[in-house]
Amino acid sequence: MTQSTVLAKWLNPEVADRISVLGTIYLMEEHPATLRALTEQRPLVVQAADPGSDPADRQSAQLYGWTSRLNVPLVTRGRTVGYVEVRESRCERLFTEEEVRLCQTIATDAATAIEHARLFQAEQEQRAFAEALEEAAAVVSATLNLDQVLDRILQQVARVVPGDAFNVMLIEEGKARVVRWRGYERWGGEDKIAGLSMPISAYPILAEMVQTGRPVIVKDTAQDSRWVPTDNWLWLKCYVSAPILVTGETVGFLNVDGAQPDQFGPADAQRLEAFAHHAAIAIENARLFRDALHQTDELQIALARLEQADQLKNQFIQNVSHELRQPLALIRGYAELLAAGEMGRLTSEQRGPIDIITRRARMLGDLVQDITLILEAEAHRPSQEPVAFDTLARAAVEDFQVITQQIGLTLEADIASDCPPVVGEASYLRRVLDNLVGNALKFTPQGGTVTVRLWPEEGQVYLQVSDTGIGIPPRHLPRIFERFYQVDGSARRRYGGVGLGLALVKEIIESFAGTVSVESKMGEGSTFTVTLPVYQEGGQD
Ligand code: ADP
Repeated sequence: MTQSTVLAKWLNPEVADRISVLGTIYLMEEHPATLRALTEQRPLVVQAADPGSDPADRQSAQLYGWTSRLNVPLVTRGRTVGYVEVRESRCERLFTEEEVRLCQTIATDAATAIEHARLFQAEQEQRAFAEALEEAAAVVSATLNLDQVLDRILQQVARVVPGDAFNVMLIEEGKARVVRWRGYERWGGEDKIAGLSMPISAYPILAEMVQTGRPVIVKDTAQDSRWVPTDNWLWLKCYVSAPILVTGETVGFLNVDGAQPDQFGPADAQRLEAFAHHAAIAIENARLFRDALHQTDELQIALARLEQADQLKNQFIQNVSHELRQPLALIRGYAELLAAGEMGRLTSEQRGPIDIITRRARMLGDLVQDITLILEAEAHRPSQEPVAFDTLARAAVEDFQVITQQIGLTLEADIASDCPPVVGEASYLRRVLDNLVGNALKFTPQGGTVTVRLWPEEGQVYLQVSDTGIGIPPRHLPRIFERFYQVDGSARRRYGGVGLGLALVKEIIESFAGTVSVESKMGEGSTFTVTLPVYQEGGQD
């Protein structure tokens, strides 16, 4: 080709009314032939001398000194992405068909190459965005330090949104306060941005985001009526922001400032929205964490109070049982002396009441002992010594024989003679026996049988106390070992007791690494089974 000038021009796909050549913007209305070539998507030759050509084109010919001009649009997949312009300025002539065809072939190849380059660039940008977003997500789940998370989010935003300064604002009492920022030192604005607080009602853009929950782009701060200009921020020429939404409510903004107009497009707003979503998660996490800490503090205070109350209660019970023990022992002693006739013969009228006094004094004594033991066991671990459980069991059965007969029951024993000692402390294990046998007798109607069995098996000693009594309803079984739990807790209940006996049994047995369980059938009876580890010389496993 012999022409003197060739220009390749890019079309900005977002701005249809201008084209730019090396940074110079050309307005389409000044180049009607170009506009036609672009819209009709075919090559077009304009001749300056042609009286039928548009005056604007003739003016351009004069200005740039061309005689004829060939406009070839760059079209790929039906989209015009730019154009090539060939100008003849040395002689009056038309471009030949051959030249036009050649130019069009080149233009088609160029258009495809441009499209590929664009796609490649778009893919690169998309990948960078995905990476940045992934890093933001990772930091959100890695730390609960909100400042740190927001700083890292801003860092990632700066990678993929082409801005000059970035900040996060949080809303407090109707004001948006800048809490984290980056990039302001370049604009001498660092001291101005720190702690900047803006009443939302005074800033239409912020108010708009609160209302719509959608991002906002200000292409040119000098042109946008929503923008409120401030002397401190004259360098700021464009702006994009996304609201930070927590459960649908705007709690802050993610802002990006630009020093040139027109830096941001819808894609940037969309990206900011994605980062704002991560910021929202971080803010919500931080809030939940703060609440949880607060609750923990409150719980700790409540726990401390409870512990104090518990201590006072224990102290009180200990004092009361201590005060009761001695008078009770005296009452019981004298009652037994009286019952035995040691203090003079009893008349038949006196015998009944004296027996009642003796029995009730014994019951009260047992109760006081249970309370004392349960508090003691709680305060310090009982010693772990070898205890001949079989001897203890025989003694207990013997002690209960008299009362058993008095109430019309049978007490049977099947206690192995070669039983090894168990781990425990004799006074505690005796209470276990007394409570289990005592309960069995208490809850078995006249004519029934209570059986105490004891045998060694695989490193354990088993104690079983069975009765043919009233049984325990299944729904109560899981709870009868709780302190103060009674199957019949009503004021009109038939059986005495305060619900401490089984709790004491369980706490004692478990403190010696043993177990206790129960099986029961209503109307047929109950069986309580205790296991205790056999005592090992030189320490327990
Ligand atoms: P209490 O002082 O009321 O006997 P315990 O802790 O010893 O308290 O027993 C808790 C509850 O378990 C009793 O109130 C009773 O309802 C039930 N219970 C315990 N042993 C037996 C048993 N052998 N037969 C039937 N019910 C029993």
